[in-house]
Amino acid sequence: IEDGEVSNVDVLIVGAGPAGLMAATWMARCGINARIVDKRGTKIYSGQADGLQCRTLEIFDSFGFADRVWKESNHMLEICLWNPDSEGRIRRSDRIPDTIPDLSRFQQVVLHQGRIERFFLDSLKEHSSIKVERGVLPLSLSFDESKAEDLDAYPIEVELQHLTDEEASPEQNQASKSSGVSDGLFRSNMAPDDTEEILSKAAKNGRAGTREKIRAKYMIGCDGAHSWTRNQLGYKLEGEQTDYIWGVLDIIPITDFPDIRMRCAIHSADSGSVMVIPRENKLVRLYIQMTTTEKGDHEKLDRSNINPRMILESAQRTMAPYKLEYKYCDWWTAYQIGQRVGSNFSKNDRIFLAGDAVHTHSPKAGQGMNVSMQDTYNLGWKIAAVLNGTANRSILKTYQSERRRIAQDLIAFDHRFSRLFSGRPAKDVMDEAGISMEEFKDAFQKGNRFASGVAVDYGASVLVAKDGDAASQGDGSDAGINSARKRIIGKQSLATAIPIGMRMPSFKVLNQADARPWHFQERLTSNGKWRLVVFAGDVSDQQQMARVQRLGKSLASSSSFIPRFTPRGQPIDAVIEILTIHSAPRTTTELHDFPDILHPYSAKEGWDYWKVFVDDVSYHEGHGRAYENYGVDAKTGAVVIVRPDGYVAWIGELEDVRDMDDYFSAFMVART
Ligand code: FAD
Repeated sequence: IEDGEVSNVDVLIVGAGPAGLMAATWMARCGINARIVDKRGTKIYSGQADGLQCRTLEIFDSFGFADRVWKESNHMLEICLWNPDSEGRIRRSDRIPDTIPDLSRFQQVVLHQGRIERFFLDSLKEHSSIKVERGVLPLSLSFDESKAEDLDAYPIEVELQHLTDEEASPEQNQASKSSGVSDGLFRSNMAPDDTEEILSKAAKNGRAGTREKIRAKYMIGCDGAHSWTRNQLGYKLEGEQTDYIWGVLDIIPITDFPDIRMRCAIHSADSGSVMVIPRENKLVRLYIQMTTTEKGDHEKLDRSNINPRMILESAQRTMAPYKLEYKYCDWWTAYQIGQRVGSNFSKNDRIFLAGDAVHTHSPKAGQGMNVSMQDTYNLGWKIAAVLNGTANRSILKTYQSERRRIAQDLIAFDHRFSRLFSGRPAKDVMDEAGISMEEFKDAFQKGNRFASGVAVDYGASVLVAKDGDAASQGDGSDAGINSARKRIIGKQSLATAIPIGMRMPSFKVLNQADARPWHFQERLTSNGKWRLVVFAGDVSDQQQMARVQRLGKSLASSSSFIPRFTPRGQPIDAVIEILTIHSAPRTTTELHDFPDILHPYSAKEGWDYWKVFVDDVSYHEGHGRAYENYGVDAKTGAVVIVRPDGYVAWIGELEDVRDMDDYFSAFMVART
C-alpha cells in the first residue's frame, strides 16, 4: 500500500476477534468485497475464551468447520456442585448434565479462542481472498449522514495506520516476562486500552508504517470492550461494574480432587469459590474469586500484583483439604466483573457495533465469545443481502432490535449467575446474607437453557412473521416494519415444535435419492440463501400429491416470488432454495414424482438430488421421526420459511403462496 492511498471497499471490519472473524466469514461466503483489520500483530495463541455453546457449534457446522472443533475440543458432559457440609468441609452435593439432553445435536465443548480463530482464518482462505490485515488500526472516522440511504454511496471514510511489528505487539507484564508464561492481562477488562499508546509510540519513533484512506459502504466495529469505533460514534455502554475480581489459570493440575475432569462449581464455607473447566490437552481452567466482598477491597488488588502463584494459593484455600499444584501453566489472567450493554448498536444502519464492543459481562457462564459471534452471524448476511441487491435496507434495522434484546437478557442472566457464584454459601436457612445452594443449583439448571444459545427467540419484525408488537423491541425501533403494509403472521399451529423466531431445530431425515441420513440442519448451509422448507406430507395419498403439484406449479410460474427475486441469469435456487421433506414410505415414491422446481434441473449438471428428503427409517441410524418431532401433521404437512441464518421466519399451508409472496415482497428487491 502506497502512503496516502485512497480506495473503496463495501465492508470494513475493525477487529479480528471472534465477532470480526464471523462477520468476515459471511462476507466471504456471500462474495462481498470486504477488508478486516486488527491492531495486534498476531492472532492469539493461548488462553482467553474457551466455552462453545451447542448453538455456536450448529453455526460452525453451517459453515463447515464444526467437525474440527468437535474433534479437538474437550467435551463437557457433567456439572458437579461442591458445597460445604455441616462441618464446613466441601462435598459433592449434586451432578447435573452440562447440556440439557436433546436440546441440540451438539453439546457444550471447550477449546481455546486461538484455535477457533484459526478455523475461521482457514475458512476465509478457502472461500475468499479476504485476509486479516494485522498491525493496522484506524486513526479517524468520518461519516456523511446525508448519504446514508444512497445505495451507491460510500458515506464512511476511515484513515488507517499500518504499524511496525514492534508497535503491534502488546507488552506482557513483569510476572509473565519472568515466568515465560503468556498472560491475558493486556486483553483483560482490567487493563486500560492501549490504542492511544500504540499510536503515540508509532508517531514518536518515526518508524510508523504507511497511512491510507478507505471509503466504505458499511463498517462493523468488532473492536472489543474498549471499542474505538464505539467511542468515535459517541455511544456508551450502560450498566454497572461490580468489584468482584476473578483470576484465571490454565494449568495441567496435579491434584487428588476427584472431579477435576468435570465442570465444577465449588463453594467453600469461607474461602471463596472456584469454577473448574476441564480443557483440551490435559489442561484445566480454574476461575478463582480474588475478592470476597462486592465493594472495597479490590483497591488493594492492583493488577500488577496479581500473579499465577497468588491465584493458585487462592484456589488451594477453596479446595482444601484436597491438594492442588501444577508444574505447567499455559496462560493466566484476571478480570473484573461488569455488566454493561451499548446504548446503540448502529449508526444509521451503516456503521454497526458487535460483540464485546456492545456488551460486557463476566466470562464464567462462557457466553461472551458465543454471543459476540452470534451478533455478527445475525448481521453479516443482512448486509450482504443489501449489497448483493436482493434485499432492501429495511432488514438492517432488525440487527439492533434482535441483538440488543439478547444482550440485555445476557446481562440479566450474568448478573444473577455471577452474584450467586461469587457469594458465600448460606450456613443455614436463617443466614440471609449467604447464598442458598438450592437457589444456585436452580439457577444453574435454568441458566443452562439460556447458556446453550438455542433459546434465542427473535421478536416480530419485517423478517419474523409472528404475533407481537414489532414496535416495542425494547429500543423504540420499528424493526423494519412498514406500517402501511399488511403484516403477515405465520400459522404456528401447523408446526408446533418449530417456533417462529427461533432457530430451525434438527432431526434426521433420509435423502430420497440415495437413502443417506442427514441431520436436517446440515442442509441449511450458511451461504446467504433463504429456504422454503416444504413439508409435503403423505404424498402416497393422491390428493395430497395433487396439493404438492399445485404448489410446485405456482412456485415455478414466471410471476412467482421465486423467479421474481432471483437475479437474471442465476440458478432458480440462487436466492431462495426449496427443501422438501415428505412422510410417505421412501420406497413407494420416486424423486421424479415431485414437481421439477423441488429438485431443479440444470443443463450442465442434470437433476438436483440433494433437495428432497423423507421421514423414514434408515439402514444404520434409526428413524428420525421428523414430522412428530417438528409437530407437523404427517398427512397434510406445512411450509416453513427459514432465514439465511437458520431462524424460522414464517409458517403456512401449502396453499398460502400469496402470504409467502407478501412475506418476501416486504423487503426483497425484484430483479430488474
Ligand atoms: P475481542 O475478542 O476483544 O476482539 C477484539 C479485536 O479487536 C482484538 O483482536 C483487538 O486486537 C482488536 N482491536 C481492538 N481495538 C482495535 C482498534 N482500535 N483497531 C483495530 N483493532 C482493534 N467467552 C465465551 O464465550 N466463553 C468463554 O469461555 C469465555 N471465557 C473467557 C475467559 C476470559 C478470561 C476472558 C477475558 C474472556 C472470556 N470470554 C468468554 C469472553 C470472550 O473472550 C469475549 O467475549 C470475546 O472475545 C469477544 O469477542 P469480540 O470479537 O467481540 O472481541
